[in-house]
Amino acid sequence: MAGLLDFVARFGAEERCIEHLAGLRWPGGFVCSGCGGRAAWRLKARPRVYECATCHRQESVTAGTVFHRTRTGLAKWFLAAYLMGRDKRGVSAKFLQRELGVTYQTAWTMAHKLRHGLSEDPARPLRGFLEADETFIGGRGDRQAAAAARPAPTRAWSSPPSRRCRHQRTRRESTGTR
Ligand SMILES: [Zn+2]
Repeated sequence: MAGLLDFVARFGAEERCIEHLAGLRWPGGFVCSGCGGRAAWRLKARPRVYECATCHRQESVTAGTVFHRTRTGLAKWFLAAYLMGRDKRGVSAKFLQRELGVTYQTAWTMAHKLRHGLSEDPARPLRGFLEADETFIGGRGDRQAAAAARPAPTRAWSSPPSRRCRHQRTRRESTGTR
């Protein structure tokens, strides 16, 4: 596995994380799920959103992932996943709070969602976005596109959310996670 410096160099900025998620979502480039159009604009005010140039349908690169609707930067999410994946014993919310510079509440929510692979859409779980091993975190390199084009293997964090978890998430988001 690549080290922390390599990871930060690759995923330390929001834009890099967006590009990564977009590459996983559209391995061969953007495809509109509405009209099949291949051209899209990025929204300046909402950089995670791609808008189809033909039908103006908007799709977020985080839709259907644990990152959806989060106000927390994607670089922090990616780093949290990295830290959690590196330590098989798991890391505490307190640890994430300190390392990421977020509130305890945010750290707890991130850890919870990442641990359980909570997805906005249960029919479309994480799809291996956060494989906390060399295939995600540093080793893919040139093989990245090819790997992304294949159906992602199910990982520990890709398990469908339990009823209880979804309930917690819904309640949390209704109180203003966005
Ligand atoms: Zn379209």
